[in-house]
Formats: sequence, structure tokens, C-alpha cells
Amino acid sequence: MITINGPRLLDDLRALAAFGRYETGVDRVAFSPADLAARRWLTERFAAAGLKAHLDGFGTVYGTMPEVGKTLLIGSHSDTVPKGGWLDGSLGVIYALEIARAFREAGLSQRGIGIDVVSFQDEEGTYLACLGSRAFCGDLDAAAIAAARGKDGRPLTEAMAAGKLAGEPVRRDPARHLAFLEAHIEQGPRLEAAGRSIGVVEAIVGIRRLWLQSAGQADHAGTTPMPMRRDAGEPLLRFAAWVLHRFAAVAGPQTVWNIGSLALEPGAANVVPARGSLSFEFRDPDAARLDALEAEVLAAIADIRQGCRARLDAAVTTRIAPVAMDARIVGALAAAARELGHDPLMLASGAGHDAMILARHMPSGMLFVPSIGGRSHDVSEDTREEDIVAGCAVLARTAARLAQELADG
Ligand SMILES: [Zn+2]
Repeated sequence: MITINGPRLLDDLRALAAFGRYETGVDRVAFSPADLAARRWLTERFAAAGLKAHLDGFGTVYGTMPEVGKTLLIGSHSDTVPKGGWLDGSLGVIYALEIARAFREAGLSQRGIGIDVVSFQDEEGTYLACLGSRAFCGDLDAAAIAAARGKDGRPLTEAMAAGKLAGEPVRRDPARHLAFLEAHIEQGPRLEAAGRSIGVVEAIVGIRRLWLQSAGQADHAGTTPMPMRRDAGEPLLRFAAWVLHRFAAVAGPQTVWNIGSLALEPGAANVVPARGSLSFEFRDPDAARLDALEAEVLAAIADIRQGCRARLDAAVTTRIAPVAMDARIVGALAAAARELGHDPLMLASGAGHDAMILARHMPSGMLFVPSIGGRSHDVSEDTREEDIVAGCAVLARTAARLAQELADG
């Protein structure tokens, strides 16, 4: 059976966290000098593990086992959000490296199926969310790359040129990659609250986003009688009240929702609002549920529009479909967790991940380890060492099991 080396795993994770260290976390946004230095270091570590290592033109780091023709692809991303945490996707990248080493040490690659390791570029969307995994899967066209810009307006193409990344883009190989496995920290509080060490992801949620805009008339708030106002705040606040009081009744047990922004202009105590805007999103792993909720939201907006003198416009700006993880891999992850003495929590991922892109092209699965206090995308992000090691052992056992099953046909 396969045995991972816990201290070696933790040493590599800590070494990677030194690139872009910020307080107790890491600031290593895609294409920053720290990100590129980390990616060059990963290329060396992959090569030192006996993998054929390649840093591609996007900054994706890819390591392949030269002695095999078929592999399980394992990995995640090593870029972070600004002032982010030290684990996030880095955990999944170093797990993959450790599993490739352990796989060889156990003699498992001699059966003809091995491990390829990857750190995708810009999962966090500094320039283009899931850039590396989308490019890897052939889901990006030249126009999207040409149009991508950072928050500061800097074009992605300029960041790529400044990074002096000359390598050929790496692409998925359907004849070689039998499945994709990604480990990640949970980034939420559910595992900790349930007292579990291992989470097995059954689906990655879909997202719907709406943008509401209202238009009324700015008038003196002291001299304009109430029935004569066209208050642009009214429809948005009525919508917010509907969300707070009514949405839970139509939502499912796994639905989450958020009014992320609400603005009124000109924004003075003595002026009736002339314009307003509100963003609303909801997420659920069930596509039919998302459709039903969207219909409820649009019906509520139509009702509110009827009852207000201000104008209300609403548009669905984002529809991201939920993605189911491969049932066989979900089963293999849960079985491996149980064999190692864990009681895995089966859950949906509320955040997007590279596996969401890969799952459209090959059987994919995800494992979560707990986030202390549910904290993530912040320097306070952390996971207990024993949970870090336990998660890698479960993923390694899963990979060994899947490789053996696939080799046996
Ligand atoms: Zn991540």
C-alpha cells in the first residue's frame, strides 16, 4: 500500500509559503514576482521528484511521470488572493507532489498507471478566473485572453510578457489523463462544526447573479410630500426586505444567498434617492433548484415594480452551472477515508475550483480538509497539521485504489 511522508509534505508546504509571505499568510497573486518565483521553485521540486517538469506560457506548472502512458492528474493552484492564506490551493499542489513521490516509492507506477502533477495559473481570477485550468482544457479562446485585465486595468497579455514565460501551453491529454483529483481546504466552517477531518465533495455549486438598478427623481426630502415622490430607494429596499423575509421559504437546504452591494445616489440624508443599484446572488448544487429560484426572484421583482413609482430594471448577469463530481471517485474517496479511520462528511463546495473546469472533460473528484474557524482568503487561514497529513493520506490511498482498479480494467 501507499505511505506518504508527513514531515516531507509539511516541509514543502512551508517552503512554498515563504514565497510572498505576508504576516501569517501569503500575498502571491497570479503573475506577481512572488507567484512566478514560487512556480519556478515548484518546477524544480517536480524535477527533483523525478517528474518531467514544465512551466508553460501561462505559468501553469506541470510534472509528468515519464515511465507511464496513463495517469491520474492531481493538483490545484498556487496563486492566492491579495493578502491570502498559506494553504488554499497550495495544499492540493503539494499533496499531488507528495503522492507522486509516494506512488513511486511504493512501486505502484510499475503497473502502468502513474501520477501527473499540476499547479494551474490564476484560479483566483486576478486576470481571468481559472485561467490555467481553462487553457489546459482548451476552454479559452484568444479573444478571452486578449480581453482579460486585472483590477488595475493591466492586460493579461502584458503580465504574461513581463513574466517572460516562454513555455508551450500544456494541454490535457485524453489518452493519458484518466481522472483528475484535487484537494483543497474547505474555506468554510462545516467540517470543524461537525468534528470531521475529511470532506468529500459531491458537487460544486452553480451560481446565479442579478443586478438591479432603479431610477427615480432627486427631490428635497423635507418639502416633497410622500405620495409625490419617485424614490429610487424604495424598490431596492422592498426587494431586500423580500430576500430577508421570504427567500428562505423558497430556498433549498443547501442554498446560500447574498446581497453583496446596495448603493443609493446622490446619497444624502435630505435628498430623495434618484438612482440605486443592488447585487444579489444565490448558489445551489441543483440546477433545477437554481432555475426555480430564479423564477421566484423574477416574479418578486415584477410584483415590486408594479407597486413603486420609481423605475426598476433587473438583469441576470451570471449563470454558472453546478458540476457533479464523478460518482466512482466520490465513492473511492469516502471508502479510503473510512479505511483510514475517518468519518467523511459528504458536502457540496460553495466555492468554485479548478475541478469545476476539469470535471467537464474527465472524471473528477475533490477532497476537503477543515479550515480552522472556517477562515480563508485571509492571513488567518490555517489547518491543523494532523488534518493536513490525514487529508494527503486519504487522497494517496484513493489514487492508489483508482489506479489499481483502472489497471485491472
Ligand atoms: Zn483555491
